[in-house]
Amino acid sequence: MNNDFLLSVVVPAYNEQEVLPELHKRLSQVLQGMGGRYEIIMVNDGSTDSTLAVIKALQQADPHIGYVNLSRNFGKEIAMTAGLDTANGDAVIVIDADLQDPPELIPELVQGWREGFDVVFARRLSRDGESWFKKATAAGFYRVIKKVGRVTIPSDVGDFRLLSHRAILALRELRERHRFMKGLFAWIGFPQKAVDYKRDARFAGETKWNYWKLWNFALDGITSFSIAPLKVTSYIGLATAGISFLYALFILYKTIMHGDPVAGYPSLMVVMLFLGGVQLIGIGIIGEYLGRMFDETKGRPLYLLDEVVLSHHALLAQQVASPTLHV
Ligand code: UDP
Ligand code: MG
Repeated sequence: MNNDFLLSVVVPAYNEQEVLPELHKRLSQVLQGMGGRYEIIMVNDGSTDSTLAVIKALQQADPHIGYVNLSRNFGKEIAMTAGLDTANGDAVIVIDADLQDPPELIPELVQGWREGFDVVFARRLSRDGESWFKKATAAGFYRVIKKVGRVTIPSDVGDFRLLSHRAILALRELRERHRFMKGLFAWIGFPQKAVDYKRDARFAGETKWNYWKLWNFALDGITSFSIAPLKVTSYIGLATAGISFLYALFILYKTIMHGDPVAGYPSLMVVMLFLGGVQLIGIGIIGEYLGRMFDETKGRPLYLLDEVVLSHHALLAQQVASPTLHV
């Protein structure tokens, strides 16, 4: 591979006005240091602060920047997808806007790609600035998904990674709505490599996740990659039904041999409540899948674009590809 490649860096941003200038500074430093061609694609995910204005100002000043403005907030996973769809690079890097992913790691990611890996992901050694509860729940989640999922999702890996061109093309084929990106990245396969780093605390601003969002994220992760929960309920049902049947035989035997002095109200209540609970769990799990199927069958586009401004390099590439294009 020669030295002439275009590197795209995709940055999903939701209410990140305080961070973006600093991110741009550090990214540019690193990317310029590498000496090759690069573009930075910022995706404004329906921010309610002046993120878009900040992005526009940065873009005015630096032709390496392109941006995508989504029509509203679609969530990080979809914002990232919009960025990946727009990126023109021979390799594309996804990085958080809040500087929790150090841009200084990019040369190492690129090095991995030059060695022939299609997906080079950054694996964090520590999570500064996060509560023990978040760390513990994250660890638990990765353990569960590893057990039940049909693809291996590396633990302690965020979305900070480099993707080769063919990995991007593969990802673009996966248009499901409930996008558990870590799972999708793993699903496409291809040679993958990890690069270790220390995860910093947020540079400024607030995390956009709360526990309810994280819980739904975990549910998406599990239900998109495993039907084990659906199967588990049928086994629980089978087991409870079997035990209830044996218990019924036992009661029948006891009544015939010894009579029934007490009216059996407690056992009745227990069995009823227990089975009721099991049934509700089963229905709930089916509901989780059904709801996701409902969303998929609507077949809506993943996101709507308000505005796309291509970077200088992307414009050049397009003009070469189709000389009649007017932009
Ligand atoms: N983000 C986004 N849309 C959202 C929420 C977050 O594009 O609805 C972006 C956010 O701007 C940041 C990245 O996703 O660049 C990670 O968000 P955050 O730092 O809040 O998540 P955490 O680091 O706590 O996992
Ligand atoms: Mg963050």
